[in-house]
Amino acid sequence: GIRLEQVQKFFGANEVIRKIDLNIEPGEFVVLVGPSGCGKSTLLNLIAGLETLSSGHIHIGGAQVDDTPPRDRDIAMVFQSYALYPTKTVRHNITFGMQTRNIPKPDQEAAVDEFARLLQIDQLLERKPGQLSGGQRQRVAMGRALVRKPAVFLFDEPLSNLDAKLRIEMRTEIKKLHQRLGKTVVYVTHDQIEAMTLATRIAVMDDGSIRQFADPATIYENPADLFVAGFMGSPP
Ligand code: ATP
Ligand code: MG
Repeated sequence: GIRLEQVQKFFGANEVIRKIDLNIEPGEFVVLVGPSGCGKSTLLNLIAGLETLSSGHIHIGGAQVDDTPPRDRDIAMVFQSYALYPTKTVRHNITFGMQTRNIPKPDQEAAVDEFARLLQIDQLLERKPGQLSGGQRQRVAMGRALVRKPAVFLFDEPLSNLDAKLRIEMRTEIKKLHQRLGKTVVYVTHDQIEAMTLATRIAVMDDGSIRQFADPATIYENPADLFVAGFMGSPP
């Protein structure tokens, strides 16, 4: 799991994360929602180690990681703009992260084959990203995160570049993957339906704070305040 303890982040004089406490159980699928600029990406980046804490502590899998560099945190992150190497094949794009972690070649190949089948990109491994559709590229980015077999996945609006039909397809696949692999996930989205269908618990953020952290039914039927009710579209 992941534990945040009084996590605070300033950009200059601007306090964008206001001493957040959050406890995410192993295997949970937490969806982070909130208005643009409220600090969702910053919070993910802090967990990933891509931004440094101003104060507070972060624990991943029971270990304090405040000073642990991103590559040693046992996490994988999928961004909205999932940059793939345009000149490399799909296979190479997927294995790249494993090469830097010194995983033996046969294990690399086995992992690529396993996840390529799972994501239905096994026919595309020798192509270049430019020869793929947006949804296929998204799957490659997902494959690249999965093959590292981390304990924790961080997703920052991974489906926002896709059309409505693909988004629903991928949403279903992500849900199946989570049920199958049982990893801890923190997932940022603007899409309320995505939040309701994927989350074990939803964290509603506003202006650097978490207003409510509860299961989807509770958030919808029993919003903590008017902000949560308004944001999640709960009935009055
Ligand atoms: P969105 O939904 O639009 O992606 P968000 O909730 O992910 O928004 P963040 O990207 O976390 O929001 O930004 C939170 C606040 O921090 C914003 O006011 C933003 O302008 C500011 N911010 C983000 N990154 C930096 C940075 N590197 N330097 C200074 N300010 C930043
Ligand atoms: Mg963001």
